[in-house]
Amino acid sequence: MTQQCAFISQLSNTEQQNWLDKLNAKLPNVRVMLAREMSVAEKQQCKVAVVANPKPEDLTEFPQLVWVQSLWAGVERLVAELDNPSFALSRLVDPMLATIMSEAVLAWTLYLHREMPKYMAQQKLAKWQQLDYKCAGERTIGILGLGELGKSSAQVLVKNGFTVSGWSNTAKVIDGIECFFGREGLETLISQADIIVCLLPLTPDTRKLINDDFLTKMKKGTSLINFARGAIINHHDLVKQLNRCHVGHAVLDVFEHEPLDESSVLWQHPNITILPHVSAPTHIESASKIVAQRIDNFVLTGELPECIDMVKGY
Ligand code: NAP
Repeated sequence: MTQQCAFISQLSNTEQQNWLDKLNAKLPNVRVMLAREMSVAEKQQCKVAVVANPKPEDLTEFPQLVWVQSLWAGVERLVAELDNPSFALSRLVDPMLATIMSEAVLAWTLYLHREMPKYMAQQKLAKWQQLDYKCAGERTIGILGLGELGKSSAQVLVKNGFTVSGWSNTAKVIDGIECFFGREGLETLISQADIIVCLLPLTPDTRKLINDDFLTKMKKGTSLINFARGAIINHHDLVKQLNRCHVGHAVLDVFEHEPLDESSVLWQHPNITILPHVSAPTHIESASKIVAQRIDNFVLTGELPECIDMVKGY
């Protein structure tokens, strides 16, 4: 008998149809259906849902859900909004996404390393001035978070000649990367880095982690790249430390409220580069293959993929 899997999202109709087509083409024994097209009886029997930014209340229409698979790698909002869910939640883990994020980390690290913001500012003043050159190995890049995205980004930076350190919750050994963990480890990483890249999940422990205390422990002129979640940074403290020139430059791709409000002071700051949450978009072809394989495996064996630890929050 064909199993049904609900698709619950706030994506546009075209985006939803694109995902449904991609998933259904790879799942001969499962029918992925828009939740709104399912009958009450179908919703009540449904065990699996694929989601992309669902409204938590939409999930309550599915009392038998065993497993919910997100199409995104970050599920922080959903984890925060779900109150002790009866189903397991898994997020997207896709090597293609890690490659895309590593490319972004390399691109924006090079932007800072080769002083592009300073040369752009000089051009506006028609100022011809060569800045001192440092080679990649003379720059230490500190990566916060050594998970799927952080580890891969750190390894790409090492391949490109940078000196790389990383910080995680638990101790790690990764070739070519100086690994730190715990509070003490964080302080050492902060004090050594020339550029800090944030790839941590947003959890109660990491919310506003990058605050005045964190920023003042950085060396003068250290720059910041945030490709994780906006609420990990206290932006008020960041602007203060940028204005004091203690922080060199900040590349911000993520914000607590997106899209970033037109009236935000962050837009106009000369030492901030704003990106509209583009560092690592989900690659639909690759992600749909992985999600379809997981659904197929669950239907065949009843086995769940690795799921979010709701206590740790990631
Ligand atoms: P992940 O595999 O879960 O890795 C998270 C890493 O953070 C792990 O190394 C973990 O340590 C570490 N960590 C968590 N809490 C910590 C704490 N309190 N102190 C120290 N280290 C801590 O996550 P991921 O797949 O790499 O993704 C990271 C984040 O990227 C996502 O949560 C999402 O917010 C963001 N993201 C952004 C975009 C974008 O386009 N901007 C796209 C995708 C994802 P352990 O390894 O010791 O557990």
